[in-house]
Amino acid sequence: MKVNDFHVHVGQFNDLYFSPEFIRDFLNSVDVDSFAVSSSSICGHDIEQTLYDIKRIVSLFDKKAFPILWITPEMLSHNFLHVFLESDIEWKCVKIRGFHNWTTDSIESAVFVAQALNIPFMMHTGGQQCCEAGQYYSLCKKYPHQLFVLAHSRPCDETIFVMENCKNVWADTAFTPIEDIVRMVDAGLEDRIMWGSDYPILELYYKTQDVSKLYLEKIKTLSQIFNKSVIDKILYSNFLSFFEISKHN
Ligand SMILES: [Zn+2]
Repeated sequence: MKVNDFHVHVGQFNDLYFSPEFIRDFLNSVDVDSFAVSSSSICGHDIEQTLYDIKRIVSLFDKKAFPILWITPEMLSHNFLHVFLESDIEWKCVKIRGFHNWTTDSIESAVFVAQALNIPFMMHTGGQQCCEAGQYYSLCKKYPHQLFVLAHSRPCDETIFVMENCKNVWADTAFTPIEDIVRMVDAGLEDRIMWGSDYPILELYYKTQDVSKLYLEKIKTLSQIFNKSVIDKILYSNFLSFFEISKHN
């Protein structure tokens, strides 16, 4: 089974550091081909560490690693976004977690960065009301030529609503329950759903378990539910189509 993973992290997460090599070993153990990756070191505003994490993982995987520029409100308000833009990293997507200090205006400023770079825009969904999928409906509607990704697809009914009404919106399956993925496919969205795992955050949620086993089990369950064409799209080819479309947008 060929697998691409749209939702991978590297770097510092709270008091734990997940090195590029650690992430490489995991991705190899579950046989992931290409993946999109952001560095959670940015949460502590460690610029040097964030740049190191991304450059190192790209050097380990070359073209198979698609670096994501995780933008925080502070990067915009304290003017250090340029450090990331001026680095020699070829960013493939912008990401935000739309809570804490974000405002509607500052989120739009982050979208302008994605537009200037001509790359997609990914937003975390769920956990708090302010960043549930439906909250992004008007933004996705306002910029129909911008590709958006609703990371986590939460909540499912709002994700389906936004995707049905905005053809420029995709979703990933990081922490998405199987039954929600089934509902999205039943809604006819199979061409815009990308497998995502949120590794290594999985390690923190399933501390006592073998995460590579869980990772492969979820893939196996999905493969038993969907036919070959659907499962191949979700696990593998939608990822490639997504980045291909992003180049021509
Ligand atoms: Zn994540």
